[in-house]
Amino acid sequence: MKTLMVTDPQMCTECEACINACKKTYGTARARKTDSIPIFCMHCHPDKAPCRRICPHNAIEVIDGEDGETLIVNEENCILCKLCAIACPIGIISFDKEKKSAEKCTLCLESDNIIPACVEACKDNVLNVFSIEDLQELKNDENLTEELQEAIKTFKSKSN
Ligand code: SF4
Ligand code: SF4
Repeated sequence: MKTLMVTDPQMCTECEACINACKKTYGTARARKTDSIPIFCMHCHPDKAPCRRICPHNAIEVIDGEDGETLIVNEENCILCKLCAIACPIGIISFDKEKKSAEKCTLCLESDNIIPACVEACKDNVLNVFSIEDLQELKNDENLTEELQEAIKTFKSKSN
């Protein structure tokens, strides 16, 4: 199981190249621009993901990739009730009017991309993909605490 995040909000120039690359790949952006930095699906654990748990039509399915499991919308099963978008704590589910389906980030697991399109498009290199183990290691690294607090402060000041 992997996740993706803006690791250096201070360096994000808010150019939206990541969001545009996602839109170009899938027709609908699966990431969202806020007032400042972009936000991405948090890749909640498949057993706990509110979007999957609420879906009345089992349209959000678990797929296995090289890097573990991730969640994908089965477009055939989606009845466009939009409950997943209400349940998602960060409101990151989008909808494709043509496909008549919900859309969510899969870290490009269903494409041929080796690196997710958004990560590849980011010229400022502020996006990174982490495994749960990487995150645990970072959490235990005391040297990073100060840097993390600085990043949170910047994020908060940019979003106000
Ligand atoms: S919009 Fe589709 S994926 Fe979302 S909860 Fe409804 S049926 Fe499930
Ligand atoms: S779409 Fe929302 S609820 Fe579903 S896995 Fe991503 S962050 Fe979690």
